[in-house]
Amino acid sequence: MSPASADTPTPDSHLIIDKVTKSFGDTEVLRGVSLSVHRGITTAIVGPSGSGKTTLLRLIAGFEAPDSGTITLAGERVAGEGRWIPAHRRNVGYVAQDGALFPHLSVGQNIAFGLDKKKFAGRAAVDARVAGLLEMVSLEPGYARRRPDELSGGQQQRVALARALAREPELMLLDEPFSALDAGLRVATRKAVARTLAEAGVTTILVTHDQGEALSFADQVAVMRRGELAQIGNPFVVYTRPSDRETAEFLGDAV
Ligand code: ADP
Repeated sequence: MSPASADTPTPDSHLIIDKVTKSFGDTEVLRGVSLSVHRGITTAIVGPSGSGKTTLLRLIAGFEAPDSGTITLAGERVAGEGRWIPAHRRNVGYVAQDGALFPHLSVGQNIAFGLDKKKFAGRAAVDARVAGLLEMVSLEPGYARRRPDELSGGQQQRVALARALAREPELMLLDEPFSALDAGLRVATRKAVARTLAEAGVTTILVTHDQGEALSFADQVAVMRRGELAQIGNPFVVYTRPSDRETAEFLGDAV
């Protein structure tokens, strides 16, 4: 597979980003990013801090609008050329770096917030599903009654993952979701989350600094640099044959 082929939209593309630009004031953060992602695959986005990775995720989620270019999700134009579908109407899960739980709700209520109320009707069904989601992120069922401020940063991050999984999104956006976890827990949680997403056939985009995570989690790696996509392709190819010296130096430093 040539690196460019992963970037070419096809009828199977779940997400098509076409020449998207975004500036904040005088800062051009995204400078014409085009990316196409097939349904059910996992893409890791890597790149130096400030290269625009989080901004790209926020545009896909619908928290920001592009200045120009278009975003198409599951065949529907969600942003650009006069179209705008807000975040809550996109079938997308998003886990931010800091988790950002609702502080006034219990852990269980935070997770239940994302559940389909028709599918999980009644207290028993909701409690069972919440317990299942907690187990997926290695937390005991008793955590459902706690409040977010009683949890460590890593535990809050795992609850944020469970809440995003509860929505059963077709597309999951993960921004450094495992970075607050210690090494052992990071691997276990990553495996459990990867299995859950793969079983459900969820298309996943993961921003990560961790090369091992990109290699083990992703079907393709996209390298961002100064608001542009510098390279995209199979993880092994990207890491062994970077497209240029700057990418090679960045990937070398990211080990
Ligand atoms: P990355 O995730 O690769 O570290 P970001 O997308 O977070 O990069 O940020 C890229 C640049 O955009 C940074 O210079 C950041 O300061 C700027 N930026 C991001 N969001 C905003 C915002 N809401 N207002 C102003 N500047 C922003």
